[in-house]
Amino acid sequence: MNYQNSLDFAKQLDERDPLKEVRNKFYIPKDTNGKDWLYFTGNSLGLQPKVTADYIQQELKDWANLGVEGHFEAKNPWLHYHEYLTDNMAKIVGAKPKEVVVMNTLTTNLHLLMVSFYRPTKAKYKIVIESDAFPSDRYAVQSQLKFHGFSENDLIEWRPRRGEELLNIEDLETIIDEQGDEIAMLLVGGVNYYTGQFLDIKRIAKIGHSKNCIVGIDLAHGAGNIQPNLHDSGVDFAAWCTYKYLNSGPGSLAGLFVHEKHAKNKDLPRFAGWWNHNKETRFNMRMPFDVMEGAEGWQLSNPPILSMAAIKASLDLFEEVGMDALREKSEKLTGFFEFLINQIETDRIRIITPKNPKERGCQLSIQVKNADKSLHQKLMDHHIITDWREPDVIRCAPVPMYNSFQDVYQMVSILKELV
Ligand SMILES: *Cc1c(COP(=O)(O)O)cnc(C)c1O
Repeated sequence: MNYQNSLDFAKQLDERDPLKEVRNKFYIPKDTNGKDWLYFTGNSLGLQPKVTADYIQQELKDWANLGVEGHFEAKNPWLHYHEYLTDNMAKIVGAKPKEVVVMNTLTTNLHLLMVSFYRPTKAKYKIVIESDAFPSDRYAVQSQLKFHGFSENDLIEWRPRRGEELLNIEDLETIIDEQGDEIAMLLVGGVNYYTGQFLDIKRIAKIGHSKNCIVGIDLAHGAGNIQPNLHDSGVDFAAWCTYKYLNSGPGSLAGLFVHEKHAKNKDLPRFAGWWNHNKETRFNMRMPFDVMEGAEGWQLSNPPILSMAAIKASLDLFEEVGMDALREKSEKLTGFFEFLINQIETDRIRIITPKNPKERGCQLSIQVKNADKSLHQKLMDHHIITDWREPDVIRCAPVPMYNSFQDVYQMVSILKELV
């Protein structure tokens, strides 16, 4: 694509954007003069779809009018509510419906998955994560190691080479070649939260499986952003939250994926509750536990309907717009963003995210040499909402659902003045 560095060109791109109307389906926060914020933190908390309130209102109304009968008589009977989310969620991550369920929150799901899939022995017990893993994932695997009587030193870090920021898959191959016999599990962020690097998940699965290691993927920064094709990738499990690119509200529930190859394995150790017990006999309270097949077999509790209503609102919108169309716009939008940043004449700015659009989602991580957090504050003063990571990186995610080419143009114009 041949981009031009002008506001007119940005306006033309917006006019030609087949998804330009979708922005109007979201609340965009505004400054005191009524001007839209330039919101680039959909990677942290996605904006609110205007329909979300109606979806939640429906459930509040049915609760008011029906009380407990809402489980069966509500417009969307609560008993089956999580099932209404499954097909659309499965499409977003490229999975079969039986491989996906929405439940709990992300870190909780990672732990429940590790109960089943991190089964260390005396000889094969180590865990591999990426060195820049999100802190919650690191704490989670460290605590699993300790829970099983191992030490934090049994965590192996896949790190970028000296002087580099991005991960090189050949280095993972080396780790697995040399230490694979001692490694029980890999848990890797499909899209790294810090650099925005989108890793080759299928290849990671192949590398891990070559030495019989379980492969799990955290898709917190992937779901709704890139197309991970989870089923085809062959990874054993995955989990992701829905409040980032999936616009389902602060602290909303998370997704969980268990590959079909494990769907019928009732011998996998796991925790149990009434919600992973056979649906047919769930209310016959005296039955021995009979676990369900597929991802639903990891649920424990009856889920919070109000949070699921917000997820349903968002997933219905994803279904309407489609991941293919979003991804197509996303590559253009982030490409334009990258082009404009590279046009700033300074050696202070460097993008650490991969240049290849296939190796990134929408986020660009921009390193500004000799900057400190005051730069982030100055951007905030212009109502440009970005995310600052010490020591000197601004993370910026133009989200194809609601960000425009003009957002990107205006943001870079102000950044240029500030540096
Ligand atoms: C956002 C994020 C989390 C957050 O975990 P919660 O359990 O939802 O609080 C965890 N891991 C990664 C990689 C994330 O990006």
